[in-house]
Amino acid sequence: MTYIITEACIGVKDRACVDVCPVDCIYEGDDQLYIHPDECIDCGACEPECPVTAIFPEEEVPDNMTAYIAKNKEAFNSPNPPGKPQR
Ligand code: SF4
Repeated sequence: MTYIITEACIGVKDRACVDVCPVDCIYEGDDQLYIHPDECIDCGACEPECPVTAIFPEEEVPDNMTAYIAKNKEAFNSPNPPGKPQR
């Protein structure tokens, strides 16, 4: 299981989640932030910090946003993977 960042993050990238993640597994892509599925320890600290409610536990991602589960995973296998968040 992992946490997933969904559509509401696109164009927002508030980054409040980044500050609370104990394992620094939230990365920044061009369009949104991404959680590395292998590094996330499922602590849940990021979820309430998101001002646009973009973060969900994998099994609670709303039905209309389940494509983001694959998007979060595939982002890290792309030629241009998400990097350390810019402040
Ligand atoms: Fe980081 Fe915890 Fe959120 Fe996973 S659930 S991204 S470990 S703050």
